[in-house]
Amino acid sequence: MYNVVAMTDRNHKQKIITPIGANFVEFIVPHLMAEAFTAYKKRNFTKTYFQVNPCENSHSAAAIVLVAVAIEAYRNRIYYMGGESVPKGTKGSVPSTIGKMFLRKLSGFPDQKFETIVQEVFVVRDVIVHSHIHELNVVFNSRNWDMVKGRKLNEYGDGKFKKSVDTKIGKTNLIGFNVQPLKIGFEDLFKTLLVLDLFAGIAEKALGRGCVSFALLQKFDNHWTKNLSQLLTHYYDQAPNQKFAEWVESFSKGLREDFGSFLPDGDDCFITNTCPKCSALGFHKLEEVWRCNACGVKLGFKLNGIITSKPLNQDHE
Ligand SMILES: [Zn+2]
Repeated sequence: MYNVVAMTDRNHKQKIITPIGANFVEFIVPHLMAEAFTAYKKRNFTKTYFQVNPCENSHSAAAIVLVAVAIEAYRNRIYYMGGESVPKGTKGSVPSTIGKMFLRKLSGFPDQKFETIVQEVFVVRDVIVHSHIHELNVVFNSRNWDMVKGRKLNEYGDGKFKKSVDTKIGKTNLIGFNVQPLKIGFEDLFKTLLVLDLFAGIAEKALGRGCVSFALLQKFDNHWTKNLSQLLTHYYDQAPNQKFAEWVESFSKGLREDFGSFLPDGDDCFITNTCPKCSALGFHKLEEVWRCNACGVKLGFKLNGIITSKPLNQDHE
C-alpha cells in the first residue's frame, strides 16, 4: 500500500493536455450507432426516399459530427506529442496535416488519396454543423411522399464542398456521403467510422500503437467488442441492404490496394479483416469461432474433429 500522508503532503506536478474529442468515439458514438441501426434496419430498401427516418437521421448525424471532432482531436494530440505546431490557414486543415504527417513517416504513402477521403468526412460534418439549407418540393398524399425537386441554397458550401460533391446526385464523389441533410443516415455513419478505423490503423503503423486508440467496449449477445473493427464487422454482418454491403466490400478492397501496406499486420483493421481463403470481408467475429459468410471456412480450436470456441474443461485428478 502507498502512504497516503506522503502522497498528499507533496505537490505532484504533471502536464496534462485536453483533447476531449477523442473520448466521444469511446463513450458516445457506439450508443448513437446502435440507436441509428434500430431505425435503419426497418427501412424498405427497395424504395427511394428524400429523407430517412428522423431517429436514424439525428443519431447518425450527431455521431458523424463527433467522429469528425475526434479525428481533429487525435490530429492535435499527434502534433503536440511530436513537438510540432499545427500550421495556420488552409495548410493546417485536418485532412492535409494528417496526410502530410503520414507521408513523412511512411515512404510512398498515397497522401492525396488519403486527404480526399478524410476531406469528404469533413464535408459531411460541415453540412450538419453549418446546417446547410436545401429547399425540397414534395408532393404527398396518404400513401406516398415524393420529392419533385430539391436544391441547396447557394450561400452554403465552401471550396472543399464544391470540389468533393457531385451536386446532381447530392453525394460526395468518392465515398458517396449524402450531403442533403435529411438523407444522412446509418450508412453514412458506417462509412465515417470506416475512415476513422483506417486512420487509426495507419497511425499505428506510422507512429506506434496507442497513438490513435479507443477502448470500444460494447456487448452484443454476451460477446464484448475489443476494437472498432469488430464493431463494424458486427453491423456489416447484419447489413439489411445488400447493395450497401456490396459497396462496403468493393470500397474496402480498393482501400486495401491503396493502403494495405501502410496498415499493421493482423485483423485489427476492418478492411483487412478478411477470409484467408476467399478474401471476403468480416471474417474475424466477436464469437471465438470465426467463419466466412461467403465460402464457409471456419477457424477455431479443433477438438475431437469438431471446431469449437475453446477447449472443453478437462478433469484433472
Ligand atoms: Zn471465405
